[in-house]
Amino acid sequence: MERGLAARGPRSLLRQIREVMAGGGPAQGRLDMVVRIIAVSMVAEVCSIYLRRASGDMELFATEGLSKEAVHVTRMKPGEGLVGEIVRLGRPLNLSEATLHPAFSYRPETGEDPFHAFLGVPLLRGGRSVGALVVQNRTARIYGDEEVDDLQTIAMVLSEMAAAGELVELEELKDIELSPHKPERLKGVRFAEGLAFGAAVLHEAPVAPEKLLAEDPVQEEARLQTALKGLRQQIDEMLEGQNTLVGASHEVLETYRLFANDRGWIRGLEEAVRSGLTAEAAVERARWEHRARLKEARDPYLRERLHDLEDLADRLLRHLSGAHHAKRILPENAILVARNLGPADLLEYDRDRLKGLLLEEGSAASHASIVAKALGIPCVGRLEGLRDRLSEGDAVIVDAELGEAFLRPRADVIEAFRSRAAMRDQRRAEFAKLRDTPAFTKDGCKITLMMNAGLAVDLDNMVETGAEGIGLFRTEFQFMVAEELPRLSAQTALYARVLEVADGRPVLFRTLDLGGDKILPYMEAEREDNPALGWRAVRMGLDRPALLRLQLRALVSAAQGRDLSVMFPLVATVDEFRQARAFVDQELAWAAKRGRTPPTSIRVGAMIEAPSLLWHLDALLPMTDFVSVGTNDLMQYLFAADRGNPRMAERYDPLSPPALRALKTICDGCADTGTPVSVCGELAGRPLEAFVLIALGFERLSMPPQGIGPVKRMVLSLDREAAKRGVAACLRSPAGSVRQEIETLARKLNVAL
Ligand code: PEP
Ligand code: MG
Repeated sequence: MERGLAARGPRSLLRQIREVMAGGGPAQGRLDMVVRIIAVSMVAEVCSIYLRRASGDMELFATEGLSKEAVHVTRMKPGEGLVGEIVRLGRPLNLSEATLHPAFSYRPETGEDPFHAFLGVPLLRGGRSVGALVVQNRTARIYGDEEVDDLQTIAMVLSEMAAAGELVELEELKDIELSPHKPERLKGVRFAEGLAFGAAVLHEAPVAPEKLLAEDPVQEEARLQTALKGLRQQIDEMLEGQNTLVGASHEVLETYRLFANDRGWIRGLEEAVRSGLTAEAAVERARWEHRARLKEARDPYLRERLHDLEDLADRLLRHLSGAHHAKRILPENAILVARNLGPADLLEYDRDRLKGLLLEEGSAASHASIVAKALGIPCVGRLEGLRDRLSEGDAVIVDAELGEAFLRPRADVIEAFRSRAAMRDQRRAEFAKLRDTPAFTKDGCKITLMMNAGLAVDLDNMVETGAEGIGLFRTEFQFMVAEELPRLSAQTALYARVLEVADGRPVLFRTLDLGGDKILPYMEAEREDNPALGWRAVRMGLDRPALLRLQLRALVSAAQGRDLSVMFPLVATVDEFRQARAFVDQELAWAAKRGRTPPTSIRVGAMIEAPSLLWHLDALLPMTDFVSVGTNDLMQYLFAADRGNPRMAERYDPLSPPALRALKTICDGCADTGTPVSVCGELAGRPLEAFVLIALGFERLSMPPQGIGPVKRMVLSLDREAAKRGVAACLRSPAGSVRQEIETLARKLNVAL
């Protein structure tokens, strides 16, 4: 069998392509030379490149062997012909007799009649097919695996170069799909409120086109091996708890380790490097192939593996660039673009320059979103295809009011955005004026508005927003962003600082809420089938009391001479609460025995997040000093819908009779027993939802700091008794969601939303 490329090696071909690139001249001329070189190297009579126009049509851009008149004339509709088939499948097509394939479409102008054998591979950009590279031969034959492989390597290099404007005239580039230039508007979901405009910074930066072809393959292979070694070492360290730079779970790390040692993956990388690619390009090539292969996968397991592989590729690239430990330098007004982020990732960027965040995935209740909210960074997520549509430095608007992103916006869109941003600033200035106004409803009911916090950086918000306290301090955040388990002294210092900034205002410290989606990389975690239903939160604390007691010790010590309020997350039974409370007493006794100054008062509460408690409030409430309703988890368990799963994110509405009745049951139970109750889920920070909560009887709300201004404005406009009557009627509705009815009610009552 003919063995075209292998005989001379793809390396020599890539070298020749590099020379063409260095030679200058018009782009079309270079593209013509490239197809000629490929044809010669592959011992093919024909080599052609097709690129996809913005209209979706595939157009012949250059050919060696077919009629030159057909260039820029032959076009195929999406899905038409063999080329359409390659693009549709995102896979190579290897045929000994092209005309026999059902998708074959005869184009007389090309003069392709004499050619039988056909091998075409897709040109991929970020897992999307944007064109095809085809070779043809007169003799009917199937091309060998290595030939297919080589052609794919070449295709990858070509699409990168073409996208960088090296093979296609810049004018043309605007109309083809290789590198998006057009303004685009993507609809997503608001994760953290706000507006931002700036330059895209890709969290996973792509390989620059000038870094695709290696000068010295031997040296390149050595670089690859060093990076692979570094990567394996990093993963081992993370698994052993030595290094916690990245918040990946144990299970994911195990998968990384498997992949990082996977012979197939490594061999693919080595071969690509030996063929003349740089190590970076080899990693990209392997990534693209996987993406194209797994993109269509419906199976969630396979899709997860794709994520793992993507992450691993990113990590390896960081090792190659030597940037795996370094903090990225950001341009001013940076908009970070990523597939998804761990909470620690976000903190690695310079806060002053980071103005917005766009995510392809994620969910509003995920911790990346919560950290974005804490930092006041507007964030829109679930933007499908985001990363493929953006290049580093592109202008972007983050519209986290409407949940949209504008990529490369036109001047008029920017103008409109600027005036909205100015209006927003004005509104914020109005909220700022309300800062010291107490939140009384029109009929004289005092509503206490507190904020949620978890990091030291949150504390500035207390003064800025006029929050009346911290209704939820998520202590696990300190653990999640730390390199190692925070010591007693570090915990004590943080809690003391929080109490100091709060300056007598109440702070409800929630003990460690780990497990579920909050895994510490430095802590051993067992793989669980249903982590959200598994060994987490207070369950962990009760089974392994050392950590819980250490934390309680830190809290008791930090609160010397001050009031202390502690609550436990995800209590599911009264026994759990009783046991947890006993640990607080033990720690108080421990401190007393050592003659330490105790807190002036101590209040112990439970978070109501597990629906089981709804039917045992009569037993629970008398044991508690207060309770706080965590609606994020309560809704998750009430509707049996994973709060972190984007597909579930908007499926069930908390403004629905079952959810509202559950909340009312809690509120009434607390009223009957005189138990102070607050709501601290994200719900409490949205004016319409807060309106309903107040109508149900809640008088204390704790929310993300940005919610305080809008919610206070709403409260000041509210007639609580009228709202109560209206919402009570909605509770009896047979509808799945009563959002619309409630919106109408709020409008009728002139509530400021
Ligand atoms: C909740 O579940 O509503 C809550 C406030 O806690 P977290 O979001 O930290 O789980
Ligand atoms: Mg919770």
